[in-house]
Amino acid sequence: MSNSTNVSEGQQYVMNTYGRLPMALVKGSGAKVWDADGKEYLDFVSGIAVNALGHCHPKVVAAIQEQAGKLIHCSNLYWIEPQIELAKLLVENSFGDKVFFANSGAEANEGAIKLARKYARKVYGAEKYEIISLKHSFHGRTLAALTATGQAKYQVGYEPLPQGFNYVPLNDLPALEEAIGPQTCAVLIEPVQGEGGVHVADYAYLQGVRELCRKSGALLIYDEVQCGMGRTGKLFAYEHSGVAPDIMTLAKALGGGVAIGAIVATDTVAEGFGPGDHASTFGGNPLATAAGVATLSTILAEDIIGNTQRMGEVLAAELQNLGQKYSFVKEQRGLGLLRGLELSIEVKPIVDKCRELGLLINGVGSNVLRFLPPLNVTETEISAALQILAQVFAVTEEA
Ligand SMILES: *Cc1c(COP(=O)(O)O)cnc(C)c1O
Repeated sequence: MSNSTNVSEGQQYVMNTYGRLPMALVKGSGAKVWDADGKEYLDFVSGIAVNALGHCHPKVVAAIQEQAGKLIHCSNLYWIEPQIELAKLLVENSFGDKVFFANSGAEANEGAIKLARKYARKVYGAEKYEIISLKHSFHGRTLAALTATGQAKYQVGYEPLPQGFNYVPLNDLPALEEAIGPQTCAVLIEPVQGEGGVHVADYAYLQGVRELCRKSGALLIYDEVQCGMGRTGKLFAYEHSGVAPDIMTLAKALGGGVAIGAIVATDTVAEGFGPGDHASTFGGNPLATAAGVATLSTILAEDIIGNTQRMGEVLAAELQNLGQKYSFVKEQRGLGLLRGLELSIEVKPIVDKCRELGLLINGVGSNVLRFLPPLNVTETEISAALQILAQVFAVTEEA
């Protein structure tokens, strides 16, 4: 089917919840993708930080093919070998001791909120249930996750929202100090806000948050759904600050493209859940966790994180250089290969022109360009992308 047939049939049969572009992507390899009309693009969206190893990485493809021929699904009534293997890999490489598997970021956050409340109720009693999250955060689209999301645009129309949520600005410790109290069961933070415009939490702030949590008996939850799995140049973004959480949620890149989410917690906190307290039919199923094992072990074995650090520097430097030439570029932000460029103008026309010239990027909010190349991107691919962006900036300046 051509792009235009996909558009007309898609509009006829698929619910209208996305502001979709008039094209279908049908094939990918590494940092490249092709649309239904055969046009090639350099993909600096990566399925929004999902395809960390690029499209169709041979190790991930092989793991999925092999597992699909063995056992696609059983049930969490039984032990699942690749699920145990993935949990072990996550535990051996993080602060955590125990893992629960879900199917998405929202579901992981939903579960983390439930775990924090259950834990607080067991240890402190029924009055300690409030979740404090940050303004401009993003935690997903289920009811509790969108309530934790500190942006009204995701909440309007879905009231009544669940109770017991409160919001403070990022990197404002006095505001948190004022809001936190005996009623607080957890503080939920993205170490790097992705959807909110690529804002990095200060390391001193996270240290302060940790201390306030300790004083008030609140748990610290990191949402690393977007910034985890090597994206920032460390396996987990919290490693930059050295401030570990009690609970961390993962999803996006964890399955190398297959739907999966995870809650990682310390042993103490994980004991908040007992048998029957939380569950998911598909959560941690053999196919998804086999893809996860292949993805995570490849990230660990093949210097993907070193490449992310090096290429992150290259990308940041090139964006900085380019930005200095144009008065409409305000600021370059981010860590590793999670980068944002804030403009003083609307980014949509720039995203559109880049696409016409064969580069996929996306905008977060109306004025931040986000760059999420695969973590195994090469310097040549970054240069090619920046050449396209430079061309688009040049015509934008003239207009
Ligand atoms: C994408 C994202 C989510 C939601 O994940 P879904 O898989 O879409 O439910 C949650 N938190 C953060 C930080 C995200 O970037």
